Amino acid sequence: MRTKIVAGNWKMNVNEVESTELIQEIKNSIQNLPLENTRVIVAPSFINLASAVKNADNSKIEVAAQNMHEATSGAFTGEVSADMLKSVGIKTIILGHSERRSLFNEDDELLSKKIDTALANDLEVIFCIGEHLEERKTDNYLLEVGSQIKNSLFHLEAKDWKNIILAYEPVWAIGTGETASPEQAQEMHYFIRNAIAKKYNKELAANVSILYGGSVKPSNAEEIFSQADVDGGLIGGASLKANDFTAIIKAI
Ligand code: PEP
Repeated sequence: MRTKIVAGNWKMNVNEVESTELIQEIKNSIQNLPLENTRVIVAPSFINLASAVKNADNSKIEVAAQNMHEATSGAFTGEVSADMLKSVGIKTIILGHSERRSLFNEDDELLSKKIDTALANDLEVIFCIGEHLEERKTDNYLLEVGSQIKNSLFHLEAKDWKNIILAYEPVWAIGTGETASPEQAQEMHYFIRNAIAKKYNKELAANVSILYGGSVKPSNAEEIFSQADVDGGLIGGASLKANDFTAIIKAI
């Protein structure tokens, strides 16, 4: 049975004091939830990771990073390596977020290197994929997401997939208030799982958690999560409010 996951991407929001408060609030509000086969992850900025790991100790909250450099170490001013992340207790990293792709020019080739570095360091990856509005409008959306998966992930061996989580995030739905309909999400998640099954095998594909991201909120979470191939969500804006994030976790 694949794991259900609700992950909050805090982006460049929340300072150290706010991060501590937010983790405490989430901790309190989820402590009595059953959460069987469900993981709760939050991804603060680099600077707050070490304190977040400590604050989340002894709770159901896991802490992830939002990015990582592909090199092991060296002259890369301002960057953060896999080893640095591991040394503060990080086990999971978000890679390929559409903001990294569009604002920081991260392409499939670079992301494939980042994935290799993460996996070589025993880190788990939440890999984001998704089409732009133009591709959605011209009916090229399946092809676009298919090629992102092929270019960044299909060089992996079957054994590597135990450390891969996918997040389908249509770019037109991120931070826009516009959400893919449950049917649109299911169509894409099924397509992704099928592509993995064709490349590897059905059993492997059935075990990959595929999250949906794009304006998930308490009012739409349950409908989206009810789809057969949707295994949870990657949440931006709504993960910054403990009440909303908790309501989304309850919807899983
Ligand atoms: C995201 O940035 O990953 C995201 C899904 O953002 P939002 O929920 O705010 O659309």
